[in-house]
Amino acid sequence: MIVSNWKMNGSQSHLEQWIKDVSSNINYKTEVPCVFCPPACYLDSSRQIINQISSKLRLGSQVIDYSQNNALTGGISAEILGDFIVEYVLIGHSEQREHFKEDNSILRLKLNSANKAKISTIFCIGESEELKINDQTKTFLKTQLEILTSEDLGHLTIAYEPIWAIGTGLNAEKNYIEEVHGYIKEQCQLLLDIKENISVLYGGSVNLDNCEEILSLNNVDGLLVGGASLDSDTFSKIYNNS
Ligand code: PEP
Repeated sequence: MIVSNWKMNGSQSHLEQWIKDVSSNINYKTEVPCVFCPPACYLDSSRQIINQISSKLRLGSQVIDYSQNNALTGGISAEILGDFIVEYVLIGHSEQREHFKEDNSILRLKLNSANKAKISTIFCIGESEELKINDQTKTFLKTQLEILTSEDLGHLTIAYEPIWAIGTGLNAEKNYIEEVHGYIKEQCQLLLDIKENISVLYGGSVNLDNCEEILSLNNVDGLLVGGASLDSDTFSKIYNNS
């Protein structure tokens, strides 16, 4: 899976051109979903354009709230997302953990909400620079993974995004990515009591220069791309490298 996370970027005209360009430039492979996560206010027009041009792009949301039909100003429920045929949702992104103070209990409720609406979750985890320096990455990731349950199986993808690599231009070393992804897969097997591997995407300053090398790693099953995905040509090329 290759995911574009636009975060809080873009405009209506950028969006229209981007969807058209990416849809015609990618050599789409059914086994590699190409997921577009625009800001929530663009989900409606994204869905319309995707349908109009019969694009292979799959729509993902950057947000989901855990209650329905509630007095939550600014909230977006799984039910609302369903109107735009949103197939994926990002949960646990480090920016939301930090700025919206999303802790494990809130994230668990969001996972429940996505599960109930049959929206596939891309569950984001990652350690800070301080934890990495203190060699606490694995212990920390384990606490983030511990909220997963067997209810999440079947529509769960993990995105490993070291916080210190997001939007910084810094890249984790190949061996580090391989080792951490291996650990995440192992932990998922133990926690969820499964034999198969959960897909683990890598994210954090992925670009055209480093995507091929990262994707060549055995334990990397795809990419979550932020800044570099805003350019349709770059994102299409990253997808085509997968
Ligand atoms: C992200 O935050 O999901 C991300 C991958 O950002 P960037 O590629 O810009 O580091």
